Amino acid sequence: MQPTISASGISKSFVVKQIRTIALQDVSIDIFPRELTLIIGPSGCGKSTLLAALSGLTSPDTGSINTLATDLVGASDDERDAFRLNHCGFVFQGFNLFPALTALEQVQVPLDYLKVPQDEAVERSEQALARVGLSHRQHLHPTELSGGEKQRVAIARAIVKNPAILFADEPTSALDSVNGQSVIEILHTIAKDTNATVLCVSHDPRLIAHAERVLHMEDGRILEDTRPRHITVA
Ligand code: ADP
Ligand code: MG
Repeated sequence: MQPTISASGISKSFVVKQIRTIALQDVSIDIFPRELTLIIGPSGCGKSTLLAALSGLTSPDTGSINTLATDLVGASDDERDAFRLNHCGFVFQGFNLFPALTALEQVQVPLDYLKVPQDEAVERSEQALARVGLSHRQHLHPTELSGGEKQRVAIARAIVKNPAILFADEPTSALDSVNGQSVIEILHTIAKDTNATVLCVSHDPRLIAHAERVLHMEDGRILEDTRPRHITVA
């Protein structure tokens, strides 16, 4: 199978007040479609930096990243922005919803950027909310939704443009265990049902049971690359 993301030898360090922190050390990985790949490791091990590099939000100091046949390291800022707009969806720990918008309106925002006609945008947003089990809550505002529901709205917003790649950074960290399980299971189902490449990073080992592939990260390196057996790949 062709990888969606192919990264080779990527390193990244930050210098703050003359002290250098190495966030990524010579990381090479291929990430594949139709599966949920989970990168797991303790706080500060470089997970968010890796996700930012693989999605073109940050440039690594060294190494190459090819994603969907785009050279992300050689690309200009505009090319990287266009790449993210056209191909990537993002889910973060903090939901990042607009307080004044209903769930349906939040999900429509990315389609407005893509200039999708209004009727089609509403229909696609309703379908995305149905996919995360929130059809009945689509006219509510963030203050009227639980944490788990808010994250499901954020997932619907991330998938409404049918992105080839869905990036999730600690998507369950603000949630209790039951809602966390539901959110990771939705991400897993999206990978299976939409052929998307889903890349999730987390410090929470409870998510391991829901992933096809688990990469263990420590001190800026990937130490282990496993495929837990209890998941049957359809
Ligand atoms: P994780 O997501 O696994 O918690 P991060 O990728 O956020 O880890 O951070 C990895 C290391 O790089 C940490 O030591 C962190 O302090 C450092 N770091 C990350 N981003 C920056 C930044 N913008 N400036 C300075 N140091 C940073
Ligand atoms: Mg992080």
